[in-house]
Amino acid sequence: MTGSDRVQFRDELVHVSALNEYVYCPRRFYYQRYHDEIGRPYELVDGRSKHDGQARRGGWVRERYFRSEDLGLHGKLDLIESDGDVLTPVERKRAESETYFASDEVQLAGYCMLLEAVTGEPVNVGYVYLYSTDERHSVRITDRHRETVHEIVSQIESMRVDTIPPLTDNPSKCEACSARTYCMPEETARLEPERARGTGWENPDAVSLGGEES
Ligand code: SF4
Repeated sequence: MTGSDRVQFRDELVHVSALNEYVYCPRRFYYQRYHDEIGRPYELVDGRSKHDGQARRGGWVRERYFRSEDLGLHGKLDLIESDGDVLTPVERKRAESETYFASDEVQLAGYCMLLEAVTGEPVNVGYVYLYSTDERHSVRITDRHRETVHEIVSQIESMRVDTIPPLTDNPSKCEACSARTYCMPEETARLEPERARGTGWENPDAVSLGGEES
């Protein structure tokens, strides 16, 4: 099966989790989308097992799959808080840094937009729950969040297997990146410096790697 054949078997809608991956690094998302060699990240496996463990507390709507042709999005909301008529998605994160990231906000915005598209009711707040602190953070979904979701969906829809996105502009993200063995940012920057031009890897000798969430 060729790469393009494989792409045609995939859902044409963008999965909400892809928003998070794309914000982290479009190049990493490219490898995850078009190449099957990359294993599922540990965080995802671990997060899923924790989700399973918490799956039977009361007062919540759990594991509902939604799709919206208009948004170009689909995805499963693992947890939705139901308070009367108000539904609020909860995105749970195994973040070790005791905080959450811009990519998590964008993913949460995607869930809120998907939920309101399906229910017809406005969903302007979501929660990020951090296992590391056992705290829940409310995030107000702004117009900027919504625009970002639309922009990323559009960019993902226009991705092509024969066009690899550039290296990240923040090399610290590469430290723990699951795509690093395929991406080879440092090797690329040294052997093909023209491909690192305008990225955070432009001067590999000056790059100091420090781990970020992957
Ligand atoms: S190694 Fe760095 S540039 Fe390459 S995909 Fe990962 S985060 Fe992006």
